[in-house]
Amino acid sequence: MSHNKKLLVNCNGFINQKNINYSYFKQVFMKSVTFAALLVFILASCNNPKQADPKASPADSSSTKPKAKFTTSMVDNKIDLSCGMPLTAGIEDTCHYNGKVYGFCSKECKDDFLKNPAGAIKEK
Ligand SMILES: [Zn+2]
Repeated sequence: MSHNKKLLVNCNGFINQKNINYSYFKQVFMKSVTFAALLVFILASCNNPKQADPKASPADSSSTKPKAKFTTSMVDNKIDLSCGMPLTAGIEDTCHYNGKVYGFCSKECKDDFLKNPAGAIKEK
């Protein structure tokens, strides 16, 4: 409570001082207003390019879904080990087997491969 009392005294002292040196206070006040206005102008002109950046980048990346989920560079096989179709036509599903990544044209082909992966690899 004693702290608040001290603050009030300081506040009154400031007000009294302001009344005495009013013209000086006004001068300083006007200078700071001019400076603040200048500062706001600088900040506003600096912020403009920053505000333009988020608009340049795509707002929603999920709406622009890539057509192919996987590419042939992501898998170790070049042809579908179940149906023999070239994977350049499109990879719908992949699986990891024995430290390698295998791509398949469909989930059904992947399931077929997983029934006998070792045999499917040996055949090709
Ligand atoms: Zn297939």
